Amino acid sequence: MLTSRTTHCPYCGESIELLLDASAGDQHYIEDCQVCCRPISVTVTVDDRGHAQANVAGENEA
Ligand SMILES: [Zn+2]
Repeated sequence: MLTSRTTHCPYCGESIELLLDASAGDQHYIEDCQVCCRPISVTVTVDDRGHAQANVAGENEA
């Protein structure tokens, strides 16, 4: 099940939309910002109700 979450780039503050796949469980990946092209560290966690949450951080904060 895919859910979309809107969050903000930790570098430039642009809003970005993430597609989260709750069925894939916890994930961590790097996604480049489409505006400033810097690598955003995305951490996805799935709670016990199957809801995916995403946290973003700059590469130096991960
Ligand atoms: Zn950015």
